[in-house]
Amino acid sequence: MADPLAFLVSASDIVTFQACRRRYLYSRKWRPRRWVPKMLGDACLRQGIFELSKGKPLADVISETTSRFYLTASDPGLDIAPGIDPYKLAMDWVACLETILTTLSRRPMVELFEVPSKPLDKMHEWSFLSFKDKHGELHRTVTVDHYNSDAVTKEMHSWYVFGDVSVAKKPMHLHFIEIGQTRDGRRHTPWCRGFSHIHIANRLKFQNKGAKPLKGDVWQSVWLSESTRWDAAAWCDQLDVDDVPNTLIHEVVIDPPKPDRIAEAIAHIRTESDQMQSWEASIENPSVVPMARAACHWPNDCSYLPICYGPQIDVDIAGLGLYKPRKG
Ligand code: SF4
Repeated sequence: MADPLAFLVSASDIVTFQACRRRYLYSRKWRPRRWVPKMLGDACLRQGIFELSKGKPLADVISETTSRFYLTASDPGLDIAPGIDPYKLAMDWVACLETILTTLSRRPMVELFEVPSKPLDKMHEWSFLSFKDKHGELHRTVTVDHYNSDAVTKEMHSWYVFGDVSVAKKPMHLHFIEIGQTRDGRRHTPWCRGFSHIHIANRLKFQNKGAKPLKGDVWQSVWLSESTRWDAAAWCDQLDVDDVPNTLIHEVVIDPPKPDRIAEAIAHIRTESDQMQSWEASIENPSVVPMARAACHWPNDCSYLPICYGPQIDVDIAGLGLYKPRKG
């Protein structure tokens, strides 16, 4: 039984702490106001999948999921590079959320449950970020630009997977959804971009049989968010005809590690938790912590770049208007 004062830690905390101590300390005090589009899209998608698994009607799930994305994207805005049209990018993300959720609703789904946090001992407690099914097996949905063995290995070795399966001692079903890349401020993926035939009205296509690309100059790009001809349901009908979902949705099951690896992982979680508490207790101003410059732009731009790379060392963080203080 964990003490009520036990330190609650999740995979996200460890990933942040190991990437950059300074980032971890800022994140404990200040929450970025603006979301990175992919992080917002992933959060909305996971919640939408959870609601679908509970049997909520698709129309309600889509309405709530896309409203959440729109509202957050419009106020306080998205964290995107200058020159990118935030409206177009948000519309593409909303289109992707609609078509992915519609497609998933047409496939068998297991009911998902939240996983309560689990005490590791009296002073340490693990907070799960994955869901579980009725058998206790874990489920995590991951969006990736491209699905390949590197993407699977990277995810398998992450704390998000290794931490949760080690503490739960249960397998995890990793659900990969390929969402392509963002180029020139648009998402290039069949979830929101298709091809219409320039001579045949209402002819929408994504690929030829066997996932072969379309050929010839009779096909032009069409974006679901700008289309008046197709809605998400009709778009998904054609995705099914062209067998696209089976090339974009993949499931990998990760078994829990052997007992000695589990013991090692839990020992590492305790060690990192103790260090996090010690750093938090002893450092009032994170700017005294040396910068972990290798982490500033990897794998994405750090949310605290304006603090670390501003013109002055002594930054009025509240005055930047980019962060809000965390409660408590
Ligand atoms: S900008 Fe770089 S040094 Fe500053 S918190 Fe982020 S990762 Fe750390």
